[in-house]
Amino acid sequence: EAKKETLGFQTEVKHLLHLMIHSLYSNKEIFLRELISNGSDAADKLRFEALSNDALYEGDPELKIRLDFDKDAKTITVSDNGIGMSRDEVQEHIGTIAKSGTKQFFERLTGDQAKDSELIGQFGVGFYSAFIVADKVTLTTRKAGEQEAVRWESTGEGEYTLETVEKPGRGTEIVLHLKEGEEEFLDGFRLRSIVKKFSDHISIPVVMDKEIPAETDEEGNETAPARVEEETVNSASALWTQSRDKISEEEYNEFYKHVGHDFQDPLTYVHSKVEGTNEYTLLLYVPSRAPFDLWDRDAKHGVKLYIRKVFITDDAEQLMPRYLRFIRGVIDADSLPLNVSREILQQSKQISAIKAGAVKKVLGLLESMAKDDAEKYATFWEQFGNVIKEGPVEDHKNKDRVANLLRFSSTHTDSAKQDVSLADYVSRMKEGQDKIYYVTADSFSAAKNSPHLEIFRKKGIEVLLLSDRVDEWLVSSLTEFDGKHLQSVAKGELDLEKFDSEEEKKEQEEVSKDYESVLKQIKEVLGDKVNDVKISHRLTDSPACLVTGAYDMSLNMERIMKEAGQ
Ligand code: ADP
Ligand code: MG
Repeated sequence: EAKKETLGFQTEVKHLLHLMIHSLYSNKEIFLRELISNGSDAADKLRFEALSNDALYEGDPELKIRLDFDKDAKTITVSDNGIGMSRDEVQEHIGTIAKSGTKQFFERLTGDQAKDSELIGQFGVGFYSAFIVADKVTLTTRKAGEQEAVRWESTGEGEYTLETVEKPGRGTEIVLHLKEGEEEFLDGFRLRSIVKKFSDHISIPVVMDKEIPAETDEEGNETAPARVEEETVNSASALWTQSRDKISEEEYNEFYKHVGHDFQDPLTYVHSKVEGTNEYTLLLYVPSRAPFDLWDRDAKHGVKLYIRKVFITDDAEQLMPRYLRFIRGVIDADSLPLNVSREILQQSKQISAIKAGAVKKVLGLLESMAKDDAEKYATFWEQFGNVIKEGPVEDHKNKDRVANLLRFSSTHTDSAKQDVSLADYVSRMKEGQDKIYYVTADSFSAAKNSPHLEIFRKKGIEVLLLSDRVDEWLVSSLTEFDGKHLQSVAKGELDLEKFDSEEEKKEQEEVSKDYESVLKQIKEVLGDKVNDVKISHRLTDSPACLVTGAYDMSLNMERIMKEAGQ
């Protein structure tokens, strides 16, 4: 029985569609990239599932994407014979925005077209981009190995229908009913050039029909009738398997948009083949901006693992540590058996070795960016610095390398821009200074105006100004750099006397004598509310400040723990 139901989109979907159509219109041909990209992902997933269940191929193992158009009906059809979707999956993936960060995304919209289209690219529009050129989209899909197929249809105006249908071939077929005025896409040449431009190096073929005219001999007799042949339009080369010198910058960038589910060019990338007992190829990209789900624990897109061009998993944490979770791309392992399950991979020593190697490549990439292109690195740091700061906590082995990548604000410039490396700091240390001083606070201005800094400013000693949430965790783990201890200016004895001049020393002694009795009185009044009350030479303008013991939790940390309900 053909069940047909009408369902409402999530309110967000409606809003998103409206916004997207308007803000991406100038770039409308990207709808094809998105649909082809999804078809390619679906083929990858099927190929992997079929490793342990050959029957899923249903006698049709040649995975491909077909592109058709019909001038009379004004439709474009993108179909794949990939994994397909069940009814529930259609409802979950096509009827809702399952992505986290959706709420924050809508909060950040400004109504300004240029800014919003930036944001929408960052959010990733995927399937819905079909509505840029279509006023009705019909998606018919049958999941591999299942009987029931389902048809989803919508005009993108708040509702969609779902019905059970027949579909002999597995996979997904998407028919775009073009809007008035979008007839330019009903053209084989135009479609071919879009495919070449955006989807040339995905790993499966995109095919189109090619009309071959009838052949005639010299007398005009027909020797072969007119016919239609299927022709592969793209190179379908799996870009990462090609050699570097044969790949153009543009090809690298377009491939990134496919694997990275991004709309912008990447910031940089590394492509290399690692030889030895563990052979693998990696093509890893640093995006030019943070995705919306950067802070989401369940974020799904990361580095994809392939084994000899067969997609295995994109379970992010297996291939990149959390602090490099923004890295996108492909790792293709030569020397792993194809019949591994995702579970076995988790314990695989080879995978750990590949992960360790890939991390080194990424760190190397970031190091050379920092060295060769300060401007790029500043962009990178602005987008991903807070994630990198998790590195020393998470990755003990590479702690020193990560420490070198860190950038901070400091009293050297007093600017909120984080551009001081620990090496910069060390190079400016005063004669006799053996510690790296920092102050933590919950905002940059609080850090910059901390009373603890007064004495340091007076003596011309640089102090790092830490005000990101992650900074407390960072300094709890990164206690040393280049043999120098990292010291909070708010903890314990500062031991700055060695920087005092003779004159200052004398003055301080006198002050201490003068205030002996006052100190006694304060101690009596405060009683056991404090551990001790001391004359301090830390302050120059403020009358008093709170100091924690050298081994106590810092005040800022106490505040963070309280906020977290500890
Ligand atoms: P993304 O590709 O970034 O996940 P999309 O909006 O492009 O976002 O697609 C949403 C989801 O819909 C996909 O993750 C996938 O689960 C499903 N999907 C889309 N197109 C297809 C397809 N051709 N075959 C199978 N599943 C698909
Ligand atoms: Mg997609």
